[in-house]
Amino acid sequence: MDSVDLHVHSTASDGSLTPRQVVAEAKAQGLRALALTDHDTIDGLAEALTAGCALGVEVIPGIEISAHHEPGSMHILGYFLDHGSPQLEAQLRILKQARADRNPQIVAKLQKMGLAITLAEVQQASGGGQVGRPHIAQVLVRKGYVATFQEAFERYIGNHGPAYVSKFRFPPQEAIAMIRAAGGVAGLAHPFTLEYSSSGHLRQILTQLVSWGLAALEVYYPEHTPENQELYRHLAQEFGLLMTGGSDYHGAIKPEIRLGQVGPGQTVGYEIVEKLKALAGRGEGRGEEGR
Ligand SMILES: [Zn+2]
Ligand SMILES: [Zn+2]
Repeated sequence: MDSVDLHVHSTASDGSLTPRQVVAEAKAQGLRALALTDHDTIDGLAEALTAGCALGVEVIPGIEISAHHEPGSMHILGYFLDHGSPQLEAQLRILKQARADRNPQIVAKLQKMGLAITLAEVQQASGGGQVGRPHIAQVLVRKGYVATFQEAFERYIGNHGPAYVSKFRFPPQEAIAMIRAAGGVAGLAHPFTLEYSSSGHLRQILTQLVSWGLAALEVYYPEHTPENQELYRHLAQEFGLLMTGGSDYHGAIKPEIRLGQVGPGQTVGYEIVEKLKALAGRGEGRGEEGR
């Protein structure tokens, strides 16, 4: 089998498996390669790369950066990053600090609303990795304040919830520039979360992103409808973008998602990894082949 998964999370962000365990799971599922794309951090990459060497799974050093976008959310994927780049480290430290400042604010809001939840409980739920809203949701479920993860977001901590605290995000052009400066290829994740109003609107957004150096589009993704997939494939061709795909695996946090599954019975082949590799490391993240 030659399938790959180009969108995977570990405990370095909000996944439930450690980077090493994720690679072991990829091995168990018979994947040839996986990209570790934790939210706003490259902290899991060293462990994943080591595990990849030991287990014979190709690990692509990646990231998923949240960029500023209204009204939906924009996530920029980075592939084949030089994860030793001090410049990238410094920029990611800004995001880490912003996130660290945000969690206590959300917890304080929940406490004010009468919910007995502490920052220590949330940190414990994270298993020692990056702490974020999914861990807050986990504690709310465990304590019976909500029945599901989704309800926690809808009633309390989602973007329109009463305990929401906005977080610092880089503008999209900066997120793309960070990835390219570290030798990586930048791609747009799950375009539907942009909450664009029409295909014309999405085309407009892509025009901008491409002008800033976007080189790939996540066409294959479990939540994409056949119509979404069709539109994204079409736009990727129009803009000369590489078509990537991934499961957005989070382990037990999203138990319905399996590693390597990007849709019902759909997988992504290894060829895309070679195309990404050909584009990476040019300082541009976009070469002639990308056109
Ligand atoms: Zn995402
Ligand atoms: Zn993701």
